[in-house]
Amino acid sequence: MNRKYVFITGGVLSGLGKGIVSSSISLLLQSRGYNVSPIKIDGYLNVDAGTMNPIEHGEVFVLDDGTECDMDLGNYERFLNKNLRNGNSLTNGKIFEKVLKKERAGEYLGKTVQVIPHVTQEIKDWIKNVGNEDKADIMVIEVGGTVGDIESQTFLEALRQLSTEVNREDYVFIHLSLVPVLDVVGEQKTKPTQHTVKELRSFGINADIIVGRSNDVLNERTKEKIRLQCGVKHVISDPDLDNIYEAPLVLEKEGLIDAIEDILKLEKKKPDMEKWIKFVEKYKENKNKKPLIIAITGKYTDLEDSYVSIKESLIHASTVLGTRVELKYIDTTGLKYEKVSELLKDVDGVIVPGGFGSRGIEGKINTIRYCRENNIPFLGLCYGMQLSVIEFARNVAGMKNAHTTEVDKNTPYPVIHIMDEQKKIKDKGGTMRLGAYPAVLKKGTKVYSLYGREEVSERHRHRYEVNPEYIKVMEDKGLVFSGKSPDGKLMEFLEIPDHKYFVATQAHPELKSRPLKPHPLFVGFVEACMK
Ligand code: GLN
Repeated sequence: MNRKYVFITGGVLSGLGKGIVSSSISLLLQSRGYNVSPIKIDGYLNVDAGTMNPIEHGEVFVLDDGTECDMDLGNYERFLNKNLRNGNSLTNGKIFEKVLKKERAGEYLGKTVQVIPHVTQEIKDWIKNVGNEDKADIMVIEVGGTVGDIESQTFLEALRQLSTEVNREDYVFIHLSLVPVLDVVGEQKTKPTQHTVKELRSFGINADIIVGRSNDVLNERTKEKIRLQCGVKHVISDPDLDNIYEAPLVLEKEGLIDAIEDILKLEKKKPDMEKWIKFVEKYKENKNKKPLIIAITGKYTDLEDSYVSIKESLIHASTVLGTRVELKYIDTTGLKYEKVSELLKDVDGVIVPGGFGSRGIEGKINTIRYCRENNIPFLGLCYGMQLSVIEFARNVAGMKNAHTTEVDKNTPYPVIHIMDEQKKIKDKGGTMRLGAYPAVLKKGTKVYSLYGREEVSERHRHRYEVNPEYIKVMEDKGLVFSGKSPDGKLMEFLEIPDHKYFVATQAHPELKSRPLKPHPLFVGFVEACMK
């Protein structure tokens, strides 16, 4: 079989869930035995998402190889249950970086370097390389943003070119559009779809399949109208759902894969979705149960997308445990210790997630102290672990004003300090300790029993670490460093015995949890919250 390309574009609005549709298509094809390789394209000029503020752009996702990328990659990994890499995340920044490097090296041999053909060629080469390296049967290529955005035009042109270089049955263009409903008459309106299809056509691309995002399924009249007005044979409904994991099942039922199989002339196959269906059923069974309330502290509380992987990890863990969680975001800016009990009175457990800088720090430390003293399940992630070390140093080990040098350079007890290899680094982009690192767990600890093995690998994104000078003092006072880097130098996990659940890690386990493989630290945490 020739390699097949599924191109996915979007129109009318951003935020229609194009990433979920693309992840769903990838999963449904994978479940038919194809080797699927996804690429998410982002039109911004940042080389990667690492330097972007999560409030503006949502969570920065990190891959095993250390790539910092868009949070959509997280959905691809969760749906495909597979680790992705740098090639799967393509940005204008990465393409321009390559083109400009080549130009400086004189590789264009005197030519005027132009968007067409040089930039578009670089894009096509990127896609083809990833396909070859992955030995992909099918590539699912999602163009971020909406058709008409200046940033994505070069990518659309490259995809158009690519489609002319392969056979008609080797590619399919899927366009996701919004079908709004006017409240008064309740009619599904097709005009925005007609316009966006026309806009797509102005780039030389004809949609083969329209996926219509609406609050309900599209009625036959609406579908017929879109078919007629847009000259497209296949129109598929993409209704509102209360959980993203149901999307593949709905899109399958709506005939999306049938249509793709027709266009790509693929043999009709039965998908193996049994485990997925079970997960969705379990999730639905738990829907009406009384939820556990999980507090997440943090300054990005105004944008839930900043913590999407944590939220999903909690959904995975609670679903398998037969319960449900509700999140309560708490802004810790100015939060005094005396006020914590009131804020946490209806809360079953607390997560202190990753972060940077000084805002809200004292409030987080106060929250951690309250959890430690009152036997409330606590899970600290990255900065959350560093802050739990500071809290313990100050309030148990008697180190007044202990701090991280990230916030207080002159602290008398720098219990968290910058890593040696980080000291000389000036550039901000891609220079943290990034990606997968191994750790060795201590036998007999809680994390050891949760993971069920000694050697683990987790993803990282940090510059600071526990200062080895203070480890002994804190261990003498009862803090257990339950996981370390293989050379024993970096503290990767900590816990407090005789506590319901007081566990923290320098890593980001939330990036590795998947519906069909919930993360042990989250399972342990939710289990403790149920008690
Ligand atoms: N600011 C801390 C560091 O750089 C923690 C980073 C994080 O939580 N991702 O080490």
